[in-house]
Amino acid sequence: MGKIIALANQKGGVGKTTTAINLAASLAVLGKKTLLIDADPQANATSGLGFDINGANIYDCISGDKTAEEVILPCPEVKKLSVMPSSINLVGAETELSTMENGHYRLKEILAPVKDQYDFLLIDCSPSLGFVTVNALVAADSVLIPVQCEYFALEGLGKLLNTVKMVKGQLNPSLEIEGFVLTMYSRTRLANQVALEVREHFGHLAFETIVQRNIRLSEAPSYGKPALLYDAASTGSINYLNLAKEFIKRNKK
Ligand code: ADP
Ligand code: MG
Repeated sequence: MGKIIALANQKGGVGKTTTAINLAASLAVLGKKTLLIDADPQANATSGLGFDINGANIYDCISGDKTAEEVILPCPEVKKLSVMPSSINLVGAETELSTMENGHYRLKEILAPVKDQYDFLLIDCSPSLGFVTVNALVAADSVLIPVQCEYFALEGLGKLLNTVKMVKGQLNPSLEIEGFVLTMYSRTRLANQVALEVREHFGHLAFETIVQRNIRLSEAPSYGKPALLYDAASTGSINYLNLAKEFIKRNKK
């Protein structure tokens, strides 16, 4: 049965999209059938994998014009990876969902018919806790939280964790926290301190694999590729491959 994981953090620029793209690609390369769902109107995951940000997309599903199957595209270069693209139109979904009956459950309904065709379905959320992100948390089995190794990293996590709690309490009782992933780590005293704090705070929920700051990870999207296809030997590729291995191992238990 497919597992849906929402990548969320209402801070922008913490590595949600980079983690969504590269974790999804790594899971696929390791043999897991994976769907990357772009739920951010900025559509960075869509363009970062080389897809058209003006094609059929998640918004067409929300508005009822298309089914999931009609918008999902296979990633030509990564065999077991598919993408549900996004577009700037998704901005409009905020008001549409708020007036829709059962608007919180829309994405869950959209994904239901395709969920079991995949091992993992990753949702790349926008840096907002609006309707679309709540939809992602309602559709999800778990939430994966990228945490940037910088000052104030933990500040603001409280707000996200409260939203997760609210969704779990009112809309999706089975929602769990998949874990916290440290991103953009560099060997500085500050980064070490953040890493330590996250481990102290969240214990085993913090992934052992830490994603280092690596220029290849920021270059790859402009070539429309995951880092693994852009520079397979790069630290970034290896970090995300290791994260995927740890992720698979944790999900075996
Ligand atoms: P978010 O989706 O949370 O807004 P992104 O994944 O888009 O964050 O990352 C923000 C910026 O940081 C992007 O330009 C991205 O390429 C860059 N970036 C993310 N992770 C890394 C990393 N480990 N090393 C170097 N640059 C990174
Ligand atoms: Mg993003």
